[in-house]
Amino acid sequence: MSSSDSSQGFTVQFWGVRGSVPTPGADTVRYGGNTACVEVLLGQDRIIFDGGTGLRVLGKHLLQQDHPVTAQILFTHTHWDRIQGFPFFGPAFIPGNQFDIYGATAANGASIKQRLTDQMLRPNFFTPLQKMSATMSFHTMIAGNIITLENGATIETVTLNSRTSALGFRITYQGKSLVYATDSNTTAAGPDPNLLYLSQGADLLIYGGAYSETVDLDVERDAAMPCDQNIEIAEKTQVKEMVLFHHNPLHDDDYLDHVEMEIHNRCPQLRLAREGMIMQLAAHRLH
Ligand SMILES: [Zn+2]
Repeated sequence: MSSSDSSQGFTVQFWGVRGSVPTPGADTVRYGGNTACVEVLLGQDRIIFDGGTGLRVLGKHLLQQDHPVTAQILFTHTHWDRIQGFPFFGPAFIPGNQFDIYGATAANGASIKQRLTDQMLRPNFFTPLQKMSATMSFHTMIAGNIITLENGATIETVTLNSRTSALGFRITYQGKSLVYATDSNTTAAGPDPNLLYLSQGADLLIYGGAYSETVDLDVERDAAMPCDQNIEIAEKTQVKEMVLFHHNPLHDDDYLDHVEMEIHNRCPQLRLAREGMIMQLAAHRLH
């Protein structure tokens, strides 16, 4: 049995689904409190979207493997909720593991390597990135780039937010497509055209519902999840399934249950992500 025969699945697992800041506690235990991290397995190849605190938990899981860990890690942007788990990603400290790390250049000109390095500098952190012993290659992405992996998968990129340089990604593999999009420029005028283009007809759209990421106490303004906007995106893109993540720290489990029921009743292809949730776009085939 060759390795390419043993596992050709297309599987997604959510390790962190919260936006802005980790929100542990009894009120968020069902949807989860870790910030953004989504793992995609294409057969035996691993792609990781974002390195929020969910990346620490994924790392713990990967350390239980007895063979070297390899992955492509794609950062949409480098707000804290996308990078805070990176310094705690255990497999990055193990020689023999190998990571290709991708991200756009920030508005201030800093590369993805520079920004990941900066957050680990003293006095903010105790171990510099240079102490990570895994082999790491850093790649600058420009919106419009298409990455082709050795297994034939393609990853297409668009820009979704000019202020944060946030990228959106579309993976196509085994005839199925997955879009990971967050922090888009969706406004009262309607969804971002780049988001609509990227997501058109996808089998699964993982979308970071929009809300103000500024920390303030204006609960009334920030608390409402914009159901209409998400339904509009699902309908305009004709995606088969759409899963919302990047949940607002103000939203507890009971509120998210209520949102999911309302949104799913109005648009059956829409649901909310929960930490630990696994979805399969294509089944594993064993020969
Ligand atoms: Zn952000």
